[in-house]
Amino acid sequence: MQNFAEEFVQSPKLVDVRYDVRGPIAQEAARLERAGHRITRLNIGNPAPFGFEAPEQILRHMIKTLPTAQGYSDSQGVYSARVAVAQYYQARGLRGAAPEDVWLGNGVSELISMVLTALIAPKDEILIPAPDYPLWTGATKLAGGNPVHYICDEDNHWWPDPEEIESKVTERTKALVLINPNNPTGAVYPREILEAMVDICRRHNLMLLADEIYEKIIFDGAEMVNAATLSDDVLTITFSGLSKTWRVAGFRSGWIYISGPRHRAKNYIEGLNLLMNMRMCANVPAQHAIQAALGGYQSIEELILPKGRLYEQSRTAHRLLSEIEGVTVEKSDGALYLFPRLDPELYPIDDDEAFVIELLRQKKILLSHGRAFNWEDTQHIRVVTLPHVEDLEVAISEIADFLADYRDV
Ligand code: PLP
Repeated sequence: MQNFAEEFVQSPKLVDVRYDVRGPIAQEAARLERAGHRITRLNIGNPAPFGFEAPEQILRHMIKTLPTAQGYSDSQGVYSARVAVAQYYQARGLRGAAPEDVWLGNGVSELISMVLTALIAPKDEILIPAPDYPLWTGATKLAGGNPVHYICDEDNHWWPDPEEIESKVTERTKALVLINPNNPTGAVYPREILEAMVDICRRHNLMLLADEIYEKIIFDGAEMVNAATLSDDVLTITFSGLSKTWRVAGFRSGWIYISGPRHRAKNYIEGLNLLMNMRMCANVPAQHAIQAALGGYQSIEELILPKGRLYEQSRTAHRLLSEIEGVTVEKSDGALYLFPRLDPELYPIDDDEAFVIELLRQKKILLSHGRAFNWEDTQHIRVVTLPHVEDLEVAISEIADFLADYRDV
């Protein structure tokens, strides 16, 4: 007999799954907003609310194609959009890129989950950077796998060390994830490190999962090398989409491109197709946005050059944070973030989540704590550099005040 007093509880599959960037801190911010406070949100890489507008061609094309976008599309995605993605990678040096090797999804997030779910058998290991974009760790666990973190070195531009990565490969390792440009550190990896990572995959028969969603947000001429261009014998899945470069995160539009020895991945791709079929298709109007975005005027270029908004904001935030006593922060080469370290001598922090919640309550500034990115210590915060320079100046001076009080206690 059913006990009607019993609670409905979540599946044990979720016990160890975390996504803290939208967890208790964000809930506390929402509570404060309901109580009438204005919160400066430096916690999520969501360009539109900071006044970054989508290139107009995308919107016009979407409006024009809306009447024809009422039905489901093919599960793999609208053909013209997949052609556009293939052409985009051809232009980036992948001469063989074809629309058959492109799949479209509701943002990179959905594709990360599907790619891992189709791959992972219980207890399989996935090599993931620390710090990471936490969906990679959470989705690996949800799929029944074990995330194994390799460390990106703060003393060496937050680059990973291929030797350390290789030392973590076991017979259960299935794939190596790289996030380049990196969220949360802003690092862009040099070619030699990427080549060494590709070589590890080659020698240990691993799939390379390259999350390159920030690939066009690059500063000061840092070289962005698409991992897929470095081999034709390593099965590589490249992830990207419209959320960041094209500033339409709300449209939920992304893609994967599978390259390398696809003939050895037929069974895997069948599994992936099954998952794609089960969710019918990605949002069709947003699939149409892809063609307009990739073929249209690449307005991101104005934002990332000196005097461009993204560039100036990142550099201002870096300078102001570096000026705070006991704060060290690596200058970013790309993406939308900085990952400063607070000296434990001056700012001993036991619980970094409690620390950012206290900052939020006192100063009404919302940051994420380092451990939300599976980072090992409690001395880091992640700062999103999307607000206007004037807003960053105010916010960082509030953070500096908070830290001064913290020091003096
Ligand atoms: N990958 C990285 C590294 C990200 O930072 C994000 C979003 O912040 C995503 C993937 C998810 O992007 P999407 O909006 O396409 O789901």
